[in-house]
Amino acid sequence: LSEKLSGIFEGLTRRGALSADDVNASMREVRRALLEADVSLEVVRTFVEKVRERAVGADVVKSVTPGQMVIKIVNDVLIDTLGDTADPISLDAAPPVAIMMVGLQGAGKTTTTAKIAKRLKDRHKSKVLMASLDVKRPAAQEQLAILGRQVGVDTLPIVAGQSPVQIARRAEEAARLQGYDVVMFDTAGRTHIDEPLMAEMAEIKTAARPHEILLVADALTGQDAVNLAKSFNERVGITGIVLTRIDGDGRGGAALSMRSVTGKPIKLIGTGEKMDALEDFHPQRIANRILGMGDIVSLVERAAETIDAKEAMKIAEKMKKGKFDLDDLSNQLAQMEKLGGLGGIMGMLPGMGKMKDQLAAAGMNDGMIKRQRAIISSMTKLERRNPDILKNSRKKRIAAGSGTKVEELNRLLKQHRQMADMMKMMGGAGAKRGALGKMA
Ligand code: GDP
Ligand code: MG
Repeated sequence: LSEKLSGIFEGLTRRGALSADDVNASMREVRRALLEADVSLEVVRTFVEKVRERAVGADVVKSVTPGQMVIKIVNDVLIDTLGDTADPISLDAAPPVAIMMVGLQGAGKTTTTAKIAKRLKDRHKSKVLMASLDVKRPAAQEQLAILGRQVGVDTLPIVAGQSPVQIARRAEEAARLQGYDVVMFDTAGRTHIDEPLMAEMAEIKTAARPHEILLVADALTGQDAVNLAKSFNERVGITGIVLTRIDGDGRGGAALSMRSVTGKPIKLIGTGEKMDALEDFHPQRIANRILGMGDIVSLVERAAETIDAKEAMKIAEKMKKGKFDLDDLSNQLAQMEKLGGLGGIMGMLPGMGKMKDQLAAAGMNDGMIKRQRAIISSMTKLERRNPDILKNSRKKRIAAGSGTKVEELNRLLKQHRQMADMMKMMGGAGAKRGALGKMA
């Protein structure tokens, strides 16, 4: 997808303000990209209009191409639409604060109930009571009880033969009398939206008087997302959305669809089956997923701000001459850290989401950047200039001095050699683009 998008925008290489033609030419492709990401049709339509309004006539920043400018605007509108703050769960009410979970069967309600309860217990030291109102699926109440024991959160004792509303009342009373801070209601779902489900949810809502009503939805939900979110919001009224299975290969379109039609914040995302696989919502991550591209422009902007121009010139000169020593590598690593570490950089580059996972799997991470800098700073000036003189005894000393292992030092040296060779090959062209060119 990112290749496709870069392709689309390559045509737009003139400078100046974006013309209606520039923008129109790309809108058809943006629309296609959104549909491919599983954004609902009607949401795509309004989104494209918003982008068009903002883009036509917009000034193209000097240092970027009109194509990059359009990318930035698409990205910005996406972030605005998704909501630009992580909105945590509100406990701002008289205890016991009631939280009701709604959604279709298999969306992840029960799992998410336990995950949230664990989070509230761990982070807010809340005393939480969970109650399953799912009397349809055999063993649904037992499932919540098992998860409760796993995360160390109480569940309402199971009484056979009660209706969801009766259980809700019993839970509310128990929470009140026993001094719980939070009471969570896990409800039953259906495979699809129907009137009995909505009626049951409305009834439970009346009994439970929830402060938060969270719609739990699978990130894989495609064109159904709009109908799902609309129905629950209009009929029951939701206060937020939890998107589950973000770890699967969902393309993130559901987030944009549901947020657009309800205006309700996406509060949390589920990233796995484990009880701690629950994270705050970061719009930029979803935006990257939807468009399969990073915020190239902001990388360019931030790099320009952060990278010390003089330092970059010095490195560029050395690169031209094919000289790139370990001091230079250390400077580069420092600049990477300033840019927000590997995650920060990768997140902003197109198509780098996967690459980041691969790097992580290979043990490349921000901790490694720190350790590499520690290794280099444990070397003498002479060693940094001439890494070739590093033999076993020197290596042992450096590893001990930096609290690392000789293998890690060897890896660093190999990486440095590869970079130096690459720079010799790139010669002048690479030198001009400096640090950024290499990272991209
Ligand atoms: P419910 O019917 O809405 O209560 O759904 P459940 O909570 O029972 O979840 C259905 C299945 O989805 C279970 O096997 C969960 O482990 C799994 N599940 C829930 N959330 C996530 C998630 O964020 N990622 C993954 N990979 N699986 C999840
Ligand atoms: Mg359930």
